Amino acid sequence: KTLILWFRRDLRLSDNPALRAAVDVAETVIPVFIHAPEEEGQWAPGEAARWWQHESLASLADRLAESGSRLILRRGSTREVLADLLAETGAEGVYWNRLYEPALVERDRSIKQWLRAEGHEARSFQAALLVEPWAMRTGKGEPYRVFTPFWRAFGKRGSPRSPRRKPGTLRPATNWPRSESLQALGLLPAVRWYPRLASCWQPGEAGAEAALTRFLDRGLSSYHEDRDRPAVDGISRLSPHLHHGELSPFQAWQRVSERLAAQAALTQGGEAWLRELVWREFAHHVLFEFPHTPEAPLYERWADFPWREDHQPLLRAWQRGETGYPIVDAGMRELWHSGFMHNRVRMVAASLLVKNIRAPWLAGARWFWDTLVDADLANNTMGWQWSAGCGADAAPYFRIFNPFTQSRRFDGDGAYIRRWLPELARLPDKALHAPHEAEASLLQAAGVRLGKDYPRPVVDYRESRAAALAAAKQLR
Ligand code: FAD
Repeated sequence: KTLILWFRRDLRLSDNPALRAAVDVAETVIPVFIHAPEEEGQWAPGEAARWWQHESLASLADRLAESGSRLILRRGSTREVLADLLAETGAEGVYWNRLYEPALVERDRSIKQWLRAEGHEARSFQAALLVEPWAMRTGKGEPYRVFTPFWRAFGKRGSPRSPRRKPGTLRPATNWPRSESLQALGLLPAVRWYPRLASCWQPGEAGAEAALTRFLDRGLSSYHEDRDRPAVDGISRLSPHLHHGELSPFQAWQRVSERLAAQAALTQGGEAWLRELVWREFAHHVLFEFPHTPEAPLYERWADFPWREDHQPLLRAWQRGETGYPIVDAGMRELWHSGFMHNRVRMVAASLLVKNIRAPWLAGARWFWDTLVDADLANNTMGWQWSAGCGADAAPYFRIFNPFTQSRRFDGDGAYIRRWLPELARLPDKALHAPHEAEASLLQAAGVRLGKDYPRPVVDYRESRAAALAAAKQLR
C-alpha cells in the first residue's frame, strides 16, 4: 500500500507519529509539503518565519534523501494538490500531524471529510502538543483562562508519552510524482533582508538537536535565575524549532526530565523550564477554545479600549527601535537583526507600545508576526493580550511596566543595551538606562547628543502612564 505523508509544521523525522504510523502500515510513503498560505486566513506565515520554513524544508529534504526517500514540494490549493497526488501515485490515503490554529483546524476538517467521502483513508495524529487542547477542562467543564490551575491539572495527568522512534530506511517510490523546486514556492521574502538571519540560527532537525543539547549542558542548571536577564545566554532559544516542528515537545520534555532525574542540582532550573513549555500548551489551549482571540481580546469588555488615534508615527519609532527607551530600542534592534527578542524584553517592549504609546496591541502583534522567526499564533496572541491586559491570565491593567526600572533590574550592567545600541555604549551604567535624565557632562563625555545620536523618549513615561490608567477607567 502507498500513503501520502503530508508534512506541515512537523519538519522532522524523529518523534513524528504520522510518519511512524505510515511507515508501519505502508510499503511506500510519499512525503509531501504543500505551500498554501491563503488557507491560513489572516495569519499566513510572516517574512522571518518564511525564511525559516525555506531553510527547514531544505534540511528536511536532505534528511529524507539520506533515508532513501524524497520530499515532494507543491503549491496551490491543498485539496487540488492532494487529489492530483492521489491520482498520480495511486496512494490509498493521507496521514498528517494536527495543528491548532483556527483557520487550519477548519481546513483540515474539510480535507479529512472530503478524503473519506472519496473513499480514501485520512488519519491525523497528536504531535505538536503534549496534551490536546480539548482534553483540558476545569472542574466546571469549562476551558481554562488562567495558567496556574491549568498547570496543576496538567501535572495530574502523569508524564507525557515517550518520543516515537525515527523510522529507518524509507522505501523509495517506484514512480516519484513531480516536485516543484524549493525556490519556486516563493517562501523567501522579495527584499533580500534575511541573509543576516543565517548567522544567528541553524534551522532544521539537526539545528534543533544541537540547540537542545547546548541548552541542557549550559543553560538548564541556572535557567530559573538567568531566564530574565537578556544579556546572559540563559535561555534555550528553542521556540522557532518548536514552532516549525523540528523538535517535538515530547522530545524536549523527555530530555529535560532525564537530566533532572540524573542530577539533583538541575531541579530548580529544569522545573522552571518545563513550566514554560506548559505555557506553550496553555497558549494553544486558549487559542483553540477561543478562536476569536488573534483578532479580538479574550474579554470583550476590552474591545472598545480607546487607543491613541495619532499613534502611527510612534508605532514607526517603536518598530525602528527609536523610542528613546534604551531597553526597548535594544530589543527592537535585536528583533530586526536576528528575528528574535528575549522574553523579558518582549514584555517590556509590548507594554511600552500598548500602555504608554497606546497603540493597539494588534499592531504590535502584526509587527512581531512579520519579524519573529518563532512567530506563533498561539504564543504571540497570548503574549500580546497578556501585555495589553485583555487576555488570559493577564496582569491587572494598572500594573504597568516601568521600562527604566525593568532595565536597571534585569540589565543592570547594561551589557544587553550596549550590544544592540552601540551609540550609547560609552555612557556609564548610571546614565545608560535613561539617557534623557543623565547629566549633560556625562552625555557629552560619551559623545551622545540627545535628539541627534539617540532620541529623547517619544512619550513621557509618567504622563503616558497616567493617560493609560485614565483610558482604562473610562472603559470601565
Ligand atoms: P525558553 O525560556 O527557553 O522557554 C522554552 C519554551 O517554552 C519556548 O521555546 C516556548 O516554546 C515556551 N515558552 C516560553 N515562554 C512562553 C510564553 N510566555 N508563552 C508561551 N510559550 C512560552 N513565543 C513564541 O514562540 N512565538 C511568538 O510569536 C511569541 N510572541 C510573544 C509576544 C510577546 C509580546 C510576548 C511577551 C511573548 C511572546 N512569546 C512568543 C513567548 C516567549 O517570549 C518566547 O516563547 C520565548 O522568548 C522563546 O525563547 P526560548 O525558546 O529561549 O524560551
